[in-house]
Amino acid sequence: MIKDNFKDLKTSATLKINEISKDLENQGKEVYKFGFGQSPFTVPEDIINELKKNAHHNKYLPMQGLLELREAISKFESKKKKNQYTASNIIVGPGSKELMFLLHMLFDGEILLPAPSWVSYKPQAILGRNKFHFIETTREKNWFPSAEAIETIISINPKKKYLLFLNSPNNPCGLVCENLEELSKVIKKYNILVLSDEIYSDLTFENNFKSISQYCPDQTIISNGLSKWCGAGGWRLGYFVVPHQYLKLMESLKVLASETFTSVSAPIQYAAIVAFKNNHKEYLDKSKNILKYLGNYVYENLKSNNVLITKPQGGFYLMPEFLNKNFSSSEDMCNDILSKTGVATLPGSDFGFPAKKMLARISFTDFNGSEFMNNISEGEIIDDDKINKFAPKIVKGTKKLKAWVESY
Ligand code: PLP
Repeated sequence: MIKDNFKDLKTSATLKINEISKDLENQGKEVYKFGFGQSPFTVPEDIINELKKNAHHNKYLPMQGLLELREAISKFESKKKKNQYTASNIIVGPGSKELMFLLHMLFDGEILLPAPSWVSYKPQAILGRNKFHFIETTREKNWFPSAEAIETIISINPKKKYLLFLNSPNNPCGLVCENLEELSKVIKKYNILVLSDEIYSDLTFENNFKSISQYCPDQTIISNGLSKWCGAGGWRLGYFVVPHQYLKLMESLKVLASETFTSVSAPIQYAAIVAFKNNHKEYLDKSKNILKYLGNYVYENLKSNNVLITKPQGGFYLMPEFLNKNFSSSEDMCNDILSKTGVATLPGSDFGFPAKKMLARISFTDFNGSEFMNNISEGEIIDDDKINKFAPKIVKGTKKLKAWVESY
């Protein structure tokens, strides 16, 4: 009754860990939710007020998205990227995840996924029935692929069309892609289409994020949305910026949108206009500052001769590698961590790393973001006392993890 390519797929790993954590909590156990990554902050107040004001909108909106919203997004993206986008380059969907899914549905070619990659890229590639390749990466390159690694795969069948997923700062490691120039050469040489997943880009701690679209504007679809920088994951609003060269692909995306979700909720689209038009500098600076100091706290307290980590540069995550020979897979290791310490993490194997590599993704978002934000000033140096006070579970969970490492 169920089609073959759906049979082996499981619930998205991140959603599963959230449910396991909730079950353990319901049993009265203390759980440190380092597995699920969602913004700990509330949506900026001006955007919430705008949503209230627009609750009366009850009509279906255009399948590509509300024109005024697409204009606001195109200005926002053009300014950031120094490219010239217009409303015709933008499509709005119920989360960028859904738009990526539609892209997989219509793309005819092969998918290139860095190992590690966000958990949903591979299942979506399977659902789209395209062949996919994981590309090996190294810690030295911030876990992003080298041009050479990409070329090795493509050179086997260079006539095919390839779609490369690049996510910077990345989930799961919290690192920025620094070899864009090198990558742009191979992208241009083989006319690769790139999906630049920039969902964490506005949460880059030191403003060192650059988009591959600044090197290859004609071959890059930018993917972003309200979920991470704006704390609005549950509002479900994402968008693609599709370059002029791919407007045919945009037409097909619109057809798929019209035959599936129709259009994103009207009040959300009206409210989102101010997310892109108003200035949210203070909110963003505070969000980034808190995340930077917390990421640094976990990094400093966990790194050791037995734990290799690169300091996170943006977003919510870091990816320690435990030099521990007691487990046959990273999944076994994460189960051991959860049962002995209550710290929920996700195994590296969920992100395309070989199962035998003892990597785990840690999300440092288990704290009350609005309380923390209301108790700091812009640009403040956040010391350990503040971290103890406003992110006690991050402190306790990190200590538990450290004790777990030392117990072996
Ligand atoms: N891309 C990455 C790397 C993510 O981590 C997530 C959310 O977890 C998404 C995309 C999906 O975002 P959205 O809420 O826009 O569907």
